[in-house]
Amino acid sequence: MHIVDAEGCYLIDANGKRYLDFSSQLMCSNLGHKNQVVIDSIKKQAEDLAYAMPGYATNARAELSKLLLEVLPKGINKFFFTTSGTDANEAAFKIARMYTGKTKIISRYRSYHGSTSSSIAATGDPRRWPMEPRGKAQGVIFAPEAHCYKCPLKHSYPDCGLACADYIEHMIRNESDVAAVLVEPIVGTNGVIVPPKGYMQKLRKICDENGVLLIADEVMAGWGRTGEWFAMDLWGVTPDILTTAKGITSAYVPLGLCATSEKIGDFFQDNYFAHGHTYEAHPMTLLPAVATINEMKRLKLVERAKELEPFVHEKLVALKAKHPSIGEIRGHGLFWAVDLVKNQKTKEPFNTYADKISGKALLVDQIAGKCLAEGMTIQAWVSHFVIAPPLIVTKEEIEWGINLLDKWLHLADEQCMP
Ligand code: PLP
Repeated sequence: MHIVDAEGCYLIDANGKRYLDFSSQLMCSNLGHKNQVVIDSIKKQAEDLAYAMPGYATNARAELSKLLLEVLPKGINKFFFTTSGTDANEAAFKIARMYTGKTKIISRYRSYHGSTSSSIAATGDPRRWPMEPRGKAQGVIFAPEAHCYKCPLKHSYPDCGLACADYIEHMIRNESDVAAVLVEPIVGTNGVIVPPKGYMQKLRKICDENGVLLIADEVMAGWGRTGEWFAMDLWGVTPDILTTAKGITSAYVPLGLCATSEKIGDFFQDNYFAHGHTYEAHPMTLLPAVATINEMKRLKLVERAKELEPFVHEKLVALKAKHPSIGEIRGHGLFWAVDLVKNQKTKEPFNTYADKISGKALLVDQIAGKCLAEGMTIQAWVSHFVIAPPLIVTKEEIEWGINLLDKWLHLADEQCMP
């Protein structure tokens, strides 16, 4: 696709054809395209001060820091600005290791944390595989994900008593050197996996009792997507380190953030943090973040995502009722997965990661291709779709998008196994 323009919830190609952007590109264009306030902030910063090295204070940095204190979970108040999600996570791992003096990071299998050395090593999904067995950064061990629909421990909630969280405690106690537990609070690309009630609180308690830090990777789940500023707010749990990117500027410019609690920040008053980038806290990335947050507040987009949640849920429940190929729909706010299976009882997916890596044509891509031809882009991944439109989306646009998916799901239904 040759995209030449974009506006609101729509992309426009070189032939003038319009596409509803049903997954906010890579779940990042939360404000929608061509927001004039954000565009003006980019122009203003270019005119005022295009660059200052990271050691300096700047007006944009001060303004953004003040706003972050308002929206981040209470107690998270030291900021290190990067240019993407993966380098926000790299910083988080280094901080966690320096602060605790320990090495190991516990991550979970169904997760993605970025493409650079430590972030890909901490990624549970098979995008990590090409790094193995050679060249993988050391020190990451993997725990089972909290995925009730396909529980890796074969338990069922709530009878399990949150065995997946207990297993993480078991790991911490049997590994001598654990610095942190890393989670995507709601797993994004790997299927909008929402942990069961009580999981995040239990994880917080386990980390506290064992002197281990909790890192929340909110690169995708943050910034209103779930109907809260941050997904951790859904459970009232504050992590020790929160990383984010994407929605922080609604993807207008590349910015990431690694934010820590005060006590971790204080540690680095006396301990040199040997880490940085030329473009760290780049003014051109910071003022658009100020504009983004102000626009989100003005347009009440976090509230809007929460208000639209029952509407999307109702539409997806109706969709599932019509299609034997839908195993589960799940999500929060404007962040949903439609998970396809060959058989609702066995829950076998149509395709696997092995198919994806082998380059085989995937069923979800075929369906996404049909939707594209009719004017909608949607994120298809292995055997599910991610529905995550810009937070300015209307009910009519949501309905239109779900109806289009409805039209093409027969391609999956026809391949269902009895
Ligand atoms: N963490 C999560 C949860 C993500 O979804 C992503 C990207 O999709 C990343 C980290 C990496 O962010 P980036 O692509 O900005 O490096």
